[in-house]
Amino acid sequence: AKGDHHAEVLVLGAGPGGYTAAFRAADLGRKVVLVERWSSLGGVCLNVGCIPSKALLHAAKVIEETQEMGHAGLRFGRPEIDLDRLRDWKDGVVKRLTGGLAGLAKQRKVSVVSGTGKFTAPNQVTVNGGDTTPVTVSFDSAIIAAGSEPVTLPFIPHDDPRVIDSTGALDLQDVPKRLLVIGGGIIGLEMATVYHALGSAVTVVELMDQLIPGADRDLVTPLGKRLEKRYEAIHLKTRVTKVEPTPDGLVAHFEGAKAPPSASFDRILVAVGRRPNGRGIAAEAAGVAVDERGFVPVDRQMRTNVPHIFAIGDIVGQPMLAHKATHEGRVAAEAAAGRNSHFDAKVIPSVAYTDPEIAWAGLTETECKAKGIPYGKGVFPWAASGRSLSLGRDEGMTKLLFDEATHRVIGCGIVGPNAGELIAEAALAIEMGADAEDIGLTIHPHPTLSETVAMAAEAFEGTITDLY
Ligand code: FAD
Repeated sequence: AKGDHHAEVLVLGAGPGGYTAAFRAADLGRKVVLVERWSSLGGVCLNVGCIPSKALLHAAKVIEETQEMGHAGLRFGRPEIDLDRLRDWKDGVVKRLTGGLAGLAKQRKVSVVSGTGKFTAPNQVTVNGGDTTPVTVSFDSAIIAAGSEPVTLPFIPHDDPRVIDSTGALDLQDVPKRLLVIGGGIIGLEMATVYHALGSAVTVVELMDQLIPGADRDLVTPLGKRLEKRYEAIHLKTRVTKVEPTPDGLVAHFEGAKAPPSASFDRILVAVGRRPNGRGIAAEAAGVAVDERGFVPVDRQMRTNVPHIFAIGDIVGQPMLAHKATHEGRVAAEAAAGRNSHFDAKVIPSVAYTDPEIAWAGLTETECKAKGIPYGKGVFPWAASGRSLSLGRDEGMTKLLFDEATHRVIGCGIVGPNAGELIAEAALAIEMGADAEDIGLTIHPHPTLSETVAMAAEAFEGTITDLY
């Protein structure tokens, strides 16, 4: 039919995984069609994830810092918050980036087809754009990059406008007086940070026995201590069993050691994880296997069980992170072009952009213990870092884990302001097989937080006697 296309490489979904794959395939000389149901490119990350959340977290940081310098003789009034302008500014940041992507797609002659794509045959996707007639795109190879969406809970009235997910939270409709955040993971706590700074009384409920499950407990402790002083309540090992909508608020019922039986909130943010979009693409029409949770299994070339169809990003599994998706996107595009590319990264760093930030890469101490991996450890407390103290902060910590025999770095965990920037050095060290001496002997600029990485390596070297 009119408007039908043929693609050498079809990419389904224009998030970080999809646009990276599409651009790489185009750079390798392929004719690429990129299918996206949303009106702008960039997926969750640019539109309703990484970028808008970081813009709002910057605003939160500015607010918190002005309020915290009183003891140093700098007093500011409470900030006047113009929510409409703050939202416009955040949207402007997003628009610049998504607009930039549209330009890059055009430059590379990637054709963008708007609408929801579903497989209709092993070499064909049909795209339904709503009002217009469906467009059929045939392809030689396809890369599935359809991402993920927030998990909903059966006992929560998600149709009540006072119940929101991360997208609703980033929308910034208002600043609720009493906000309940269900889920003490990265996304829940980042949004809690924003709303606390804007003036909400925040309660966090987490099922596990620590915030940010997945990070080592000693890294989470400084964050927990700071939040306990600021938030209304943090209930760990607590389950929300029911939410009742009433005219005066949403009444949440709790089940947990220290939580009250119930409490009322003006808004509830549900941030209990994300599920892959593997069920919405009619994968079966192409013979692509999707597991019971909706993930698409792939090999190290990002190839599904159907050799000419690849999958990348959140839809292939954890960790659901943008930098994992982009890396996989490059691998898939190259593999589709016949190159011998594989996903062989040793580490995928994780960052919680809370205050303080928590970042880790490689093995955690918890993992080493669980797997019985012998390790050595070097820790540097930021209370001894001049740079940290001059930022008015002393709770941070840098921890390096080393292979006991070779002294090579196998893991790193950092808590403190800018931990997310600092973790990149550790990721490089692990990828390159650097050992404690390599890091300790590298001259780091003074006074910076980056010195804490070298200091942690030196702290480990001080504990070993069989060296040099
Ligand atoms: P997605 O970004 O989910 O994109 C998938 C795209 O496919 C979407 O545009 C969707 O509309 C489209 N699509 C789906 N199905 C179809 C279909 N059938 N037809 C057409 N189009 C379709 N990660 C980080 O690394 N750092 C962060 O700081 C960070 N912060 C986050 C904050 C929040 C609030 C959230 C929610 C997530 C955050 N993430 C962060 C996670 C990150 O956004 C994801 O890991 C990343 O977006 C995954 O990329 P992707 O390409 O796999 O898919």
